[in-house]
Amino acid sequence: MYVLRDILTQAQVKRTAIGHFNVADLVLLKAVFASAQELKVAVLIGASDGERQFMGVRQIAALVRSLREEFDFPIFLNADHTHSLVKAVEAAKAGFDAIVFDASALPYEDNVRQTKEAVEVLKTINPSILVEGEIGDIGSGSEIHETAPDLSQGLTTPQEAEEFVESTGVDILAPAVGNMHGMLKSMLQGEMRKRLDIQRIAHIKKAASVPLTLHGGSGTDDEDLRKAIAAGINIVHINTELRVAWRTGVENGLSKQPHEIAPYKILSSAIESVRQVVSSRLRLFKGDGAVGSDATNRIVAPPGRS
Ligand SMILES: [Zn+2]
Repeated sequence: MYVLRDILTQAQVKRTAIGHFNVADLVLLKAVFASAQELKVAVLIGASDGERQFMGVRQIAALVRSLREEFDFPIFLNADHTHSLVKAVEAAKAGFDAIVFDASALPYEDNVRQTKEAVEVLKTINPSILVEGEIGDIGSGSEIHETAPDLSQGLTTPQEAEEFVESTGVDILAPAVGNMHGMLKSMLQGEMRKRLDIQRIAHIKKAASVPLTLHGGSGTDDEDLRKAIAAGINIVHINTELRVAWRTGVENGLSKQPHEIAPYKILSSAIESVRQVVSSRLRLFKGDGAVGSDATNRIVAPPGRS
């Protein structure tokens, strides 16, 4: 059986990134899994608080586990942006592989104290669970925003990153490095792309040495993503781009078959539309077409796997 910690260690060593895609239904999950299977790369499924409530915490855990077991495939589940210990414990008990404990909206000292406590509690429930902590401001909501928020004051510093990892014991760190949740209207048409502070990522990586997650990856410049991964990002979150593709796919499915009422026939175009977005992102994360593109995060079977 595959273990997320091993997959993440491989990504650290090879300087590649694992794609993290949020799901809110079976359409999204099927699309992400089909794409990861096709490209033979490990993948992380994300479910935020709202997404977990919609699908059921134990139900999404059972779905992802069933795919991992039936297909002997490295697909894992992350409880994205969990703001309370109660919700984090609920996800850990349901069998999630990782938890993003997000107290980044609190003052720094409170963030440290609460995250440290969460790490201790969650590891007693499942010693192999991975806990991610977050510092800095990357906005909120995987939605389409009218205007860009000013996040410049909330960028993470290398010193802060080092101190936070040291004092909380988190396995993974999510820094603020120019990334932002959601997308702007201008990004939908591709007129504008998000840009990242690559130098800052490299300095944070050196200081903190743990795997780094880039939240709010949707709408980011491709070349910046490649450079960010080379500089030390190991997990990239994509949500808004999938939501846009989901909606477009559902609308196409309905308009192309105005008399159809079988949901699986209508929704097949949504699966296809999401799958295309996931595949293009996964190709980029595993290094296709980039310099040194043989340094991929292709699946390597763990020793002694049955
Ligand atoms: Zn996020």
